[in-house]
Amino acid sequence: MEGVDAAAALRGSRDGHRRRVVVTGGAGFLGGWLCRHLLDDGCEVVAVDNLVTGTPAVVEELETHPHFTFVHADVTRVLDVQGRVDQVMHLASPASPVHYAALPVETMLVGSQGTMHALDLAQVNGARFVLASTSEVYGDPLVHPQPESYWGNVNPVGPRSVYDEAKRFAEALTTAYRTSRGVDTGIARIFNTYGPGMRADDGRMIPAFMTQALKGEPITVTGDGSQTRSLCYVTDTVDGLCALAASDHPGPVNLGGGDEVTVLELAETVCRLAGSSSPITFVDLPEDDPRVRRPDTSRAAELLGWKPQVPVEEGLRRTLEWFEEQLRSAA
Ligand code: NAD
Repeated sequence: MEGVDAAAALRGSRDGHRRRVVVTGGAGFLGGWLCRHLLDDGCEVVAVDNLVTGTPAVVEELETHPHFTFVHADVTRVLDVQGRVDQVMHLASPASPVHYAALPVETMLVGSQGTMHALDLAQVNGARFVLASTSEVYGDPLVHPQPESYWGNVNPVGPRSVYDEAKRFAEALTTAYRTSRGVDTGIARIFNTYGPGMRADDGRMIPAFMTQALKGEPITVTGDGSQTRSLCYVTDTVDGLCALAASDHPGPVNLGGGDEVTVLELAETVCRLAGSSSPITFVDLPEDDPRVRRPDTSRAAELLGWKPQVPVEEGLRRTLEWFEEQLRSAA
């Protein structure tokens, strides 16, 4: 078995054959990590991506694996994957505020039509389907921490609505396919995930703070920095997605870190870990920015036996090392 050990191949197998998993958005940050994890686990992986926010380098690295195939396609148009499919992991969607602000209609379409095509693929194959939804479905939450039973507080016409409402629609569509068409579906609500491989220019707080700290530039904290976020290292999120895929639970299931920090504390921690003397500056808070964000992960713990393993400082150190390496090779 080229490239993977026999035990891993056995874990990946279903009914004696190598489990074949389609990952939409497989060239993205989270998708790339998920594809690597599935390949290491002995699966055959087909990544479908139009590279609108994904990275060709992720695909190039994955293509060195004998059981990986890349399909360059827009899932809003068609999702034509030949051959057997055992599992569909639907991650395709712009995910950072900068990206979905630049691609508003595309974001709505990938959440609606793209999700429908991914669900159709699961239906015709009798495959398990997992939707990568988001904590953004809770909007600016009025309940804290957020349990899955909370319906959220989303502005349907605000600047974040294209993403929030696309994911809420995707959750509703996934539920409809489960209840009316018998598709075996699971919904994961992912909270802020970070790690090596994030794009430096995607506008999310971790890549922004890290590149600013490493370059000695001012660290731009939005508002007064008292708003909170809960971070989860990427390998933990991937483990949670795979645990949900391996179960038959419909979800939704929150996947996220339990340590809530203010954005200002996070900026200071990044600065300290980077050994940087960058000053912290304050810029305008974006409209509809959530004040607080912390998952209640008791359902994931109970049903999937999942809880995050990588402490925040350890994850931040690994991510900083990666950004440092990127900046060094760019120089
Ligand atoms: P990302 O932008 O790095 O990856 C998304 C991938 O989807 C990209 O490779 C992009 O090219 C692809 N894509 C977008 N539209 C497409 C289309 N129409 N057809 C085919 N491919 C398309 O973002 P990410 O952080 O890796 O997020 C992956 C998924 O996880 C997204 O669905 C996102 O909403 C969800 N999520 C991520 C986080 C996080 O913190 N990273 C949090 C919550 C939810």
